[in-house]
Amino acid sequence: MKGYKRYNPASFKKKVDVETDTYLPKRAAAKTLICPGCHAILTRKRWRLDEAAYAKLLRAGTARQIFCPACQKIRDRYPSGQVTLTGPFLAEHWDEILRLIANEEKRAREKNPLERIMSLSEENGQLVLTTTDEKLAQRIGRELRKACGGTVTYGWSHNNKFVRVQWQR
Ligand SMILES: [Zn+2]
Repeated sequence: MKGYKRYNPASFKKKVDVETDTYLPKRAAAKTLICPGCHAILTRKRWRLDEAAYAKLLRAGTARQIFCPACQKIRDRYPSGQVTLTGPFLAEHWDEILRLIANEEKRAREKNPLERIMSLSEENGQLVLTTTDEKLAQRIGRELRKACGGTVTYGWSHNNKFVRVQWQR
């Protein structure tokens, strides 16, 4: 058994490139999911955005195409959050507030592609937006309060799966 002591599996493993490791079962590669809606890729149970990797997987034809949960919610018109903005400050700072919301979505999406704004509309001087993820709705409310002041309230329904955020100034 002396000879076996020299073998160090850890150092051998370090040299293996996960992407090109031919020892990985073929089934693992086939299981990679890509979303044709937003080009997100599911790897290690996490959706991420990587356009180059998406194009590569699409060309290779090894990935399975399936809509990610965010695209599915958008297709089904089934939001997880709603933010309603009201008040005279909103009317005076409309463009600035829209920019703030867009920036917040961009930042959230870079971390998690499933956090997206589904719809944005003006209703009787109110701004109403819906989100695919309850955390994004809460974050927009929090950021509005931080950047513009005013008051923000949160209400949950549907077994805490849907959040209603109200910001006013
Ligand atoms: Zn998607």
